[in-house]
Amino acid sequence: SPLVRLGLRLIPYSDELWLLVARDVSKIMRLEQMRRDFVANVSHELRTPLTVVHGYLDMLDPEDQPEWAPMLKEMQQQSQRMTQLVEDLLTLSRLEAQDDIEEDAVNMASMLATLRREAEALSQGKHQVTVADEAGVDLLGSTKELHSAFSNLVSNAVRYTPAGGSIHVRFWHDGDGVALSVRDSGFGIPASHLPRLTERFYRVSTSRSRGSGGTGLGLAIVKHVLNLHQGRLQVASEVGQGSLFSCHFGADRILARDPDLHGAPS
Ligand code: ADP
Repeated sequence: SPLVRLGLRLIPYSDELWLLVARDVSKIMRLEQMRRDFVANVSHELRTPLTVVHGYLDMLDPEDQPEWAPMLKEMQQQSQRMTQLVEDLLTLSRLEAQDDIEEDAVNMASMLATLRREAEALSQGKHQVTVADEAGVDLLGSTKELHSAFSNLVSNAVRYTPAGGSIHVRFWHDGDGVALSVRDSGFGIPASHLPRLTERFYRVSTSRSRGSGGTGLGLAIVKHVLNLHQGRLQVASEVGQGSLFSCHFGADRILARDPDLHGAPS
């Protein structure tokens, strides 16, 4: 690793002059690395004890002690939540430590089918779920990471849309590139919150979000995955009307569908 890392900034000074400001950012970067390592290590250490607690809680039968049933249920829910939090922290640490990704042909037909199944399972029939594959191409990227990004958007759409609402997933041509959009008819997000949505642990309305079962890390994960694919996240939302989250990818991410990968068309 280099001796020092410089942060460079070019600032307009007058009509003819620009200032080049160089700052030693090595210490900041070392501290940032320590923070990442710390979070990754703690999350990893929490995994085993949580698995044990979770496992034993699942074995307890509320029928044996009916007066314990509400407490058992609460403990199971909270340990489930903690497990999800630890998994999300580990995912985020892994993404932060990566400069690039393993690239394969991402089978988008099967990705969309998976997203539909996940949306339907989460919704339990309470929403109208539609999926449109308009692009008909595949993506060059990491199937695992892209799935975790898209699936976060789909689960948000379901969790922040009241029963009776709709969720629409669409894969479409956007100029030279392609985009995957998730539109919902849910609560929506006030404009003032939009710029901060992808920060770790940032949540809009804590009471509503707390009951939603999320961790506040979902959109941070989405942003990292898109960065690793040189993609871009766009959000449009209106309170009371719904939200639209779109992942945009450049033309160099587009792959023609390989019939071998997809099997014979049905
Ligand atoms: P969480 O685990 O809380 O859902 P996210 O990072 O995925 O965390 O999202 C951050 C916050 O953005 C959420 O707490 C919620 O307030 C808001 N949000 C995300 N997606 C939606 C959506 N589809 N509709 C309304 N609000 C949303």
